[in-house]
Amino acid sequence: MKTEYIILKETTLNNNCPECYSTDGMILSFKQQRLKSKFLVKTKSNIVESINCNKCENQIFPGQWTTDIERVYDYHKKTITRQSGSLRFTKLFYILLLLAITIAAFLYIYLYRPDLLGI
Ligand SMILES: [Zn+2]
Repeated sequence: MKTEYIILKETTLNNNCPECYSTDGMILSFKQQRLKSKFLVKTKSNIVESINCNKCENQIFPGQWTTDIERVYDYHKKTITRQSGSLRFTKLFYILLLLAITIAAFLYIYLYRPDLLGI
């Protein structure tokens, strides 16, 4: 399975980075995880939030957030719309399914109704 992220929102924060104190390096992002295989695509309903600083290249974990960061985070959290969790099959899955049904039907006719095939 391949993991992809759907970016729901990505925004630059102008708060001080708890690591390097720069005021224009932090990016807050809200993502949803999507797992892909050849046959299915699964979208998880939970949202993965993270804050990364471009200046010092650290991930800023919630324990390090200042109250200002929390306030901005809460504000942005309210503005995002998540996609509902889902599980769907890929085109390849349906093609193979159709192929399997066709083969099964053909085998059935071949074994039980060979007269239909003119044999
Ligand atoms: Zn930083």
